[in-house]
Amino acid sequence: MKVAPGVGNVELREIDEPTTQPGQVKIRVERAGLCGTDLHILKDEFRSWPPVVLGHEVAGEIAEVGEGVTGLQAGQRVTTETYFSTCGQCRYCRSGQNNLCLNRRSIGSAVNGGFTQYVVVPAKNIHILPDNVDYEAGALTEPLACVVHAVTTTPAGASVSPGDVAVIAGPGAIGLLTLQVVKAAGATVVMLGTDVDGKRLSMARELGADYVVNVQQQDGAASEIIRDLTDEGLGADVVYECSGAGPAASQLLTLARRRGRYVQIGLYGKSIAWDMDQVCFRELTVTGSNASIPSAWLKALRLISTGTVQTKALVTHQFDITDWEAAFATFEDRTGVKALFRPVG
Ligand SMILES: [Zn+2]
Ligand SMILES: [Zn+2]
Repeated sequence: MKVAPGVGNVELREIDEPTTQPGQVKIRVERAGLCGTDLHILKDEFRSWPPVVLGHEVAGEIAEVGEGVTGLQAGQRVTTETYFSTCGQCRYCRSGQNNLCLNRRSIGSAVNGGFTQYVVVPAKNIHILPDNVDYEAGALTEPLACVVHAVTTTPAGASVSPGDVAVIAGPGAIGLLTLQVVKAAGATVVMLGTDVDGKRLSMARELGADYVVNVQQQDGAASEIIRDLTDEGLGADVVYECSGAGPAASQLLTLARRRGRYVQIGLYGKSIAWDMDQVCFRELTVTGSNASIPSAWLKALRLISTGTVQTKALVTHQFDITDWEAAFATFEDRTGVKALFRPVG
């Protein structure tokens, strides 16, 4: 858990088993995914309210249901949305955009999250895992829901369609999920990575990327591929920045066609230099995406259950929570794609 504000200040601590209040459900955590956000919280680049247990990608079994909860019972296999509370009053809540609620409090940053044995959440956040979705796959529902939101409901993302040429930068978990959703929408996909992404780029190919490019080794290859793919070499219809690396953001700007779309999904943890003039010259539509909305969870679970999106393939590491530092290290040195934690009782 994050025990105090500032850089670092993450440690393993014994905490009491939480009690289940009316309207809430207690989940016995089976798997919890490590996410870039957790790393940003460690480095104090993402807001948190310590002391707080990290982890917002949770799959587990219902241990207890609170008073007044109907339709759910102990023993059910579930995952949970991440907003512990939203105000229900602001303009965003009232228009179904609770990811933008002005008073949103999420598990893993404001309220205790999933890197522990038990997590308590509002019953309305619960989604039952389909029978063919195990805990490993179920723990990836959250990142997939974020991707579904970015690709299907944000202004620049929403219009991806068959025949589009798409470029994705960053073959990490989010990039590889984006790849699969964009492929499912019928686009041709070029995946960009760097020297550290060797394994991840081959994984991208296995998961359906039409072209993969190591931009450090194959200078100019991306623009050449896109020139060949697009009418008159205009450029990509849509680009997705999933790496959270400044150079990737700059390169994607040069690969998008005029009137193309730029979707920002990765977080940088700092401000970056970006040639905003290109947004004017090319009349780009640029939008970002922030977490997910409830409808994206339903779609995410269906995509996993139908096998349209492979989530389990992305799980390269599993750690006991006591080895949390090793898990964070795999993220930092990019030796893995997705690391999952198992709680230790
Ligand atoms: Zn996440
Ligand atoms: Zn609100």
